[in-house]
This record gives sequence, C-alpha cells and structure tokens, in this order.
Amino acid sequence: MNEKVRCLIIGSGPAGYTAAIYASRANLSPVLYEGMEPGGQLTTTTEVENFPGYPDGITGPELMVDLKKQAERFGADIRFGAATATDLSSAPYKVTIDGEKIIEADTIIISTGATAKYLGLPDEQKYAGSGVSACATCDGFFYRKRTVAVVGGGDTACEEATYLSGLASKVYLIVRKNYLRASKIMQDRVLKNPKIEVLFEHVTLGLTGEGVVQGANLIKRMGMPDEEQVHINIDGFFLAIGHTPNSGIFKPWVETDEVGYIKTIPGTPRTNIPGIFASGDVADPHYRQAITAAGTGCQAAIEAERYLSENGL
Ligand code: NDP
Repeated sequence: MNEKVRCLIIGSGPAGYTAAIYASRANLSPVLYEGMEPGGQLTTTTEVENFPGYPDGITGPELMVDLKKQAERFGADIRFGAATATDLSSAPYKVTIDGEKIIEADTIIISTGATAKYLGLPDEQKYAGSGVSACATCDGFFYRKRTVAVVGGGDTACEEATYLSGLASKVYLIVRKNYLRASKIMQDRVLKNPKIEVLFEHVTLGLTGEGVVQGANLIKRMGMPDEEQVHINIDGFFLAIGHTPNSGIFKPWVETDEVGYIKTIPGTPRTNIPGIFASGDVADPHYRQAITAAGTGCQAAIEAERYLSENGL
C-alpha cells in the first residue's frame, strides 16, 4: 500500500535539511529522502568558512551531519533512498522511491541540488580535494597569493576568475574556443584584469603534482598544424564549465528553464504546481551557496505549512 505524507522533502543538502527543520517544528511530520549523495555537494568539499555561525569554520561533512541532527531533533523522518519517478498530475502527488515504494504527498519540497560538470579527466578524481575544485567562493581562500587556473569561458568562469584574482597572485583562464561566451561586462572585467591571463584555444589534457596539484598539461590549438603542448605551474584547478540541475524526474510536470533549473515565482520557492516548491541549487543558477540554499529551504517549508493550512490538509 502507498504511504501518505503531508510534506515530502527530496534531497539532503542545506536546502533539504533546513526545510526539514522548519517543517518538523511546524508539525508537518516531514519525510525526507536523502538521495544518491546524502549531504549533497558540501560533502565533497573540505573546509567551509563562509556558513554563518561557525567562526572557526567547519568541514562540509560535519556541517551536514549537524544540519541532519538538528532536523531529527524535531522529529523529521530522514530516510535513505532516492526519488526515481514522479506523477505530479494531480494531488496528492506521487513519488516513487528507489523504483519500488510510492509515497503520496500533499506537498513536495524539491531540494535535489545541482551537479557541477567536470571535464571527465581521471586526474580530476585523483586530485579531488587536493587542488581540484568546482567552487571558487568555497575554496578560493586556500589559494591566497598562489597561482590557479579556471576552466571555462562563460559567466561563471569569468566571475570565478575575477573572484580568485582578489586572492591569488595569478589566475589562468583556460578557454577552449578563441572567444569568451560570457556577457560583455564580465569579459571586460576579465580582459582588463592584469592578474588574469586568458589562454584561448587551450584544452586541458591532465594535471601534474606529487599528491597535490602543481601543474597542468594543456594543448593549444589541438588538431591544427600549429598545435602546441603547453605546461603551466598552478596550485589550484577550478572547473567552471557549468552545472546540471538535478531536475530530470520532475520535468514532465514542473516548469524549468532551458538549462533545467526549476522556475520559481520570483522571490518565492513556488513552482507552477500548487503545493510543490523548489529550494536550493535545483532552482538557483546564480548564487549556489549553502546559505542561500538553506534560506530557500526555510521559505519552502513556510510555504508548505501555509498551503496545507489554507487547503485544510
Ligand atoms: P555556460 O554554459 O554559460 O558556459 C560554460 C562554459 O564552459 C563555456 O565557455 C563552454 O565552452 C565551457 N565548457 C563546457 N564544457 C567544456 C569542456 N568540456 N571543456 C572546456 N570548456 C567547456 O555556463 P555558466 O555556468 O558559465 O553559466 C550558466 C548560466 O548562468 C548562464 O546563463 C550564465 O549567463 C548564468 N550566469 C550568470 C551570472 C551573472 O549574471 N552574474 C554568473 C554566473 C552564471 P564553449 O563556449 O566552447 O561552449
């Protein structure tokens, strides 16, 4: 038999856990499914120094354990398992867990996050947490007065390169084409910045270093008659080639933008379907921070509580 819940939270990053804290304190008896990567993207980072309330910093995994404990303290039912299919055609909404169990929910808070894209080089795994990062705001601080490289030519790459130039002594921007895709203003900022050297038409082949990243092997104008091998000495390698929002199973019902980010009514976590809310990175192409995700998780739980009470559920 299907299980029926008032509030189903899908995803266990800062957004999902914060939604669970608020929803459980509002007596919504929320059920949260942790998904494929319990704790979300923060579990793949090391030190988190920008989450308010931790003056000495905290590791990503510890922060997520704390958030989970806080949600459990108020009775949130946190379960292992991933949503694999949905039927949101009418309320109560149906979500299949691990291809088997079906949960019927009056409200759903989608907090499934986004996944940073990687180049797919084995070295990205080898140096994960030892010089390879997909978040300059999270990890840039560790590269003060050092040399780093950012890969990508879009707004994120330009923004990250500009941010890192305020910390690092030198920033390489590795761009595969001979132009930047970023908006004009972001391009100007990068091209006028004396600390940033743009390497157009460069592709990364691999990373080098004893235990930590110390360099990158690139190839310039790959496949052309004047193709050239290039080596740069770097301490950090930042991916900024885009994110993939984890919205696939909701797409038949919930409106997304062309990239797949769930569209919400501006300033709210409301989607196009009443009772279905989206919080955190799955609906945020711009900020993608733990604290902003937590903030929208809070909003989503408050909205769920109001929706249930307005509809007598
Ligand atoms: P984009 O998809 O816009 O850009 C991705 C960049 O990465 C492109 O330059 C692309 O190259 C490059 N790239 C992709 N795959 C590879 C690969 N395998 N190897 C090398 N390079 C690769 O992603 P963004 O994250 O930059 O931006 C996403 C959206 O968010 C955009 O709409 C952007 O405008 C917006 N945004 C806005 C900001 C702002 O307004 N402040 C800040 C950040 C993002 P190529 O050009 O060759 O395809």
